[in-house]
Amino acid sequence: MEMIEFKHVTKDYNDNRALDDVSVKINKGDFVFLVGPSGAGKSTFIKLILKETDPDSGSIVVKGTEVTTLSNRKIPGHRRNIGIVFQDFRLLPHKTVYENVAFAMEITHQSKRAIKRNVPQALALMGISEYASKYPTELSAGEQQRVAIARAIVNKPTVLIADEPTGNLDPVTAWEIMKLLEEINARGTTIVMVTHAKDIVDRMKKRVIVIENGKIVRDEFGTYGLGGTKRASAIEPDPYMEDDYNEAVADDREDYSGRKPKNSDGEVFSRQTTEIPKKPLGEDIDEASVEDAFAKAERLLAKHD
Ligand code: ADP
Repeated sequence: MEMIEFKHVTKDYNDNRALDDVSVKINKGDFVFLVGPSGAGKSTFIKLILKETDPDSGSIVVKGTEVTTLSNRKIPGHRRNIGIVFQDFRLLPHKTVYENVAFAMEITHQSKRAIKRNVPQALALMGISEYASKYPTELSAGEQQRVAIARAIVNKPTVLIADEPTGNLDPVTAWEIMKLLEEINARGTTIVMVTHAKDIVDRMKKRVIVIENGKIVRDEFGTYGLGGTKRASAIEPDPYMEDDYNEAVADDREDYSGRKPKNSDGEVFSRQTTEIPKKPLGEDIDEASVEDAFAKAERLLAKHD
């Protein structure tokens, strides 16, 4: 069954063609890597799925619903079906781990009972139950990304979009995150992951859709196949979340500048929660050390099982 179907989708920004007559089907339970150089049209593809923008022509069906003609009233319901994870985590700094995850349910007006049931489940699945009352700044980058994934799946979406989810993580942590995404996928969630991480794509051996100049130039199972020269050079966050969420983040930031929140030790939170590596994942890392890192991560994960 198709979960996402694009039929002859074209999207122009003024005289710039971002997507050019794209037709593709993504089935329920697929795990798809969306790769391609910067400016290829990957973000536009994602924004169209979320109905953050509309195509100039063509049809987009998500979970049986034509998205291009969806009324404003139905957009929140549509987006509830889609969880999103970002490269830079986007956690609310002065909410705890539990509150960050619960917040995704509160803004979609779920019952207290459902929140009490789903949040601990999502935290447990991500292996972060013990951090429930911690703040994002008290966690490592990998732990923060687990929180962000818990938040993305807490509403039990049918599709999970991951936008460079390993872009700020070291190879071992990145691999742990990939294993968690694989687990979520195994439970039936369709995953679309935008990435420049060649090592990861090559190892996962999933379906790879390559976009270049607004066109799908390759769609097959296997490897990244771009010669490894085109990597993320810049962090380009995109606000995919619902307006409510963005407003809440804005409020949060406002509070933030006014009265600086402190953690339980009375330390003032810093705005930058994670040190962002200066080089993209995989650069300057030789094959042997990557092999080693992956083997180590596998062993660590095996121990947890
Ligand atoms: P990618 O995510 O692969 O880097 P994008 O989907 O962001 O690519 O962009 C595809 C093309 O559309 C690029 O040429 C980009 O400059 C252009 N584009 C994207 N968003 C806008 C916008 N809001 N206004 C004008 N041009 C845009």
